[in-house]
Amino acid sequence: MTEWRIPLCDLDYNSAEEAAVADVLQRRWLTMGAEVEAFESEFAGSCGSKHAIAVCNGTAALHLAMLALGIGSGDEVIQPAINFVAAANVTIAAGATPIFADITSLEEPRVDPERVQELVTPRTKAVVTMHYGGYLTGIDEILGICARNHLGLIEDACHAVGASYSGLQASALDGRAAGSLGDIGCFSFFSNKNLAVGEGGMITTSNDGFAEKARLLRSHGMTTLTWDRHRGHASSYDVLCHGYNYRLDEIRAALGRVQLRKLEANNRRREELVSLYRDRLAELSGWIPVFRRSTCGTANHLMVIVAPEDAARTRALQALKSARIQTSLHYPCIADFSAFRGLRGDQLEKSRIFARRAITLPLFPGMAPSQVEEVCEVIKGTCL
Ligand SMILES: *Cc1c(COP(=O)(O)O)cnc(C)c1O
Repeated sequence: MTEWRIPLCDLDYNSAEEAAVADVLQRRWLTMGAEVEAFESEFAGSCGSKHAIAVCNGTAALHLAMLALGIGSGDEVIQPAINFVAAANVTIAAGATPIFADITSLEEPRVDPERVQELVTPRTKAVVTMHYGGYLTGIDEILGICARNHLGLIEDACHAVGASYSGLQASALDGRAAGSLGDIGCFSFFSNKNLAVGEGGMITTSNDGFAEKARLLRSHGMTTLTWDRHRGHASSYDVLCHGYNYRLDEIRAALGRVQLRKLEANNRRREELVSLYRDRLAELSGWIPVFRRSTCGTANHLMVIVAPEDAARTRALQALKSARIQTSLHYPCIADFSAFRGLRGDQLEKSRIFARRAITLPLFPGMAPSQVEEVCEVIKGTCL
């Protein structure tokens, strides 16, 4: 395996996480209990959502969001073609059809509101929007389309933990956090996310009905939990619907609580690094750092640049690899995966160009400014 000199991401873990895990082990209760409850209420508070429901990963969160909104057979769910494949996969798992919409531009690889509106049919039940890189740009327009067409809105907020909205014009959305903007918000705490526990996720909503449905489905549709029975709150249970085991455990919830306390400072650190990146890359003509003009609020999850042409990207990728700097691609165009070919949908011209030209550069709170400079120098060296 290659030893990266500058990795794509790195955990901010120290003795605080170790102590939190040791505490859980000492209390000898490992499955969903007091830590999960505390993590949920702290997370709900940080998002300004009435409910937060912890789950075992972000994909489970998206799946339960689909089911809570009543999405099923015959329904269509409009969503971005540039996204991690999870939302599309769980749309199929729910029995519905994903309809992929193109991105707005290479600079703003978010789902294009105009395309979303054009793709609405009587079968459309909901829209999934993904806050690419953590940016909340365009959420106001998507909310408008959902309201006018009576569609549910699921936020795939996996990149956006800790982001809050600030619009160009004053609006009711100002100050509202990712996950509290649509009907249901979905978060992932996978190890490369801004808040990392290994495998974990969260659903946020202020709708009591959606929350109740998601909570039931998280644990087999059962009316009581082992935790309730352990505390003598219940001795039996009924099963109200056909659910899953999508629960989070105490160790990961304890890690999540520590990470939540570090989130604000770490997101600020990401912001400083991104602004240094933008500054150093500004002189490269034709290269576009995504969302460089956005002021809508972001969690700065990713540092992505778009090359002026395919060959320039290939040259940069080779040079970065030789310098042992790790890169990634967020994301290939989902409609081009074998399992998703042949669906009705948009032309996806911009999504396909984006997937050929985008590069995700290293970004993590512990990254040194000198490392940012180094990455930028390597890219510049390929543009002479
Ligand atoms: C990470 C991620 C997911 C999936 O989350 P898991 O916890 O890995 O299941 C879904 N969508 C986006 C945008 C992500 O970044």
